Amino acid sequence: MNLHEYQGKSILTKYGVPIQNGYAADTKEEALAMYDKLAEETGSGFAVIKAQIHAGGRGKGGGVKLAKNRDEAQGYINDILGMQLKTPQTPGGMEGPGKQVNKILVAEDAYAPDFDACKEYYVSILMDRARKQNVIIHSTQGGMDIEAVAEETPHLVHKTYIDPELGMQPFNAREVAFNLGLSGTAFKNMTKFIYKLYAAYIGADAALIEINPTLHNANDEIIAVDCKFSVDANALYRHKDIAEMRDKTEEDAVEVEAGEYGLNYVNLDGNVGCMVNGAGLAMATMDIIKLSGGEPANFLDVGGTADAERVEKAFRMILSDEKVEAILINIFGGIVRCDRVAQGVIDAYKNIGDIKVPIIVRLQGTNAVEAKQMIDESGLNVRSAITLQDAADVVKDVLS
Ligand code: GDP
Ligand code: MN
Repeated sequence: MNLHEYQGKSILTKYGVPIQNGYAADTKEEALAMYDKLAEETGSGFAVIKAQIHAGGRGKGGGVKLAKNRDEAQGYINDILGMQLKTPQTPGGMEGPGKQVNKILVAEDAYAPDFDACKEYYVSILMDRARKQNVIIHSTQGGMDIEAVAEETPHLVHKTYIDPELGMQPFNAREVAFNLGLSGTAFKNMTKFIYKLYAAYIGADAALIEINPTLHNANDEIIAVDCKFSVDANALYRHKDIAEMRDKTEEDAVEVEAGEYGLNYVNLDGNVGCMVNGAGLAMATMDIIKLSGGEPANFLDVGGTADAERVEKAFRMILSDEKVEAILINIFGGIVRCDRVAQGVIDAYKNIGDIKVPIIVRLQGTNAVEAKQMIDESGLNVRSAITLQDAADVVKDVLS
């Protein structure tokens, strides 16, 4: 689950990672009040106004602005709040529709007063699955697109691996500070920063923390200026406070709805919708669709109990996707009997009515033969198959 910058920073603060002061707001009035509050605290008119959306590269799209006084701040707040912000990372990129900005962060200008003395680094922590270790990726080339840095100047991207049994060790943090070319106070502050950042990563069950840029200011302080924070959704049960940070408006509407019905749905780009019970079978079904010349339009695991209500819900979700040209239902009747699933499919089909795309149903397991007969005799535009190969052949036939 992804978090907004201001939410990620609130977690960092709990672990003692330095950030610049700031307040989030969702109306223009509130944002301006936050600016006034900040100006009083800092004694400066400088503030950064930052769009809060689940995408990076906001600066490139005009979603991050530095205001030098109240009038400028008000102007930027008016511009940014409510805008459709396009960044290289929003759906469709700079050519896409962008994302609506519903929240704004008003924060201290972390680079003041000596902007020219500031340095920007890149720091992120994530799991390297191949090495089965957490890795701290860091670079002196901060504030830019790290993928481009890795491509053009790979020697400037460093990796420090953390031994899972030992956890973060002082030498790991020193290695990072050393690789970034630091010495003296900045070196010490960077080791503390890395230590605390790693504690936040572990403590929050994070999947990724990316601080780009990590600021090294004129006073040799190290500050998290930006924050991309993603937590492992499977661990949310033990982080009630973080679970409450979920912003459903940032997620795919159909995926959110699926979650409410206990369906595991992921929207994809293809043309064949699929409804399957069990994640492994769903993956195999997607492979079969590809082998038959189609592309899966979604991943959908309806879980162990494919009852009529869920089948109908799943049907409606797949049908709401305009790219879908055919639907493949692949259910293994182990716990649930195939004839009951078949009845569910037939009922759902009749309830929804006016289904234009062909449907291929493959039921295997208890009462599979009876189920096939029910489908074949239903008179609906549903074709049945028993083996996976049959199903693949029918998909091929339907698409051609
Ligand atoms: P992103 O574009 O979504 O990655 O948002 P960032 O938070 O990284 O901000 C974009 C850029 O704005 C950064 O790379 C900085 O160069 C600049 N920036 C961010 N915060 C401040 C700030 O407090 N003061 C100044 N002067 N510049 C900032
Ligand atoms: Mn950034």
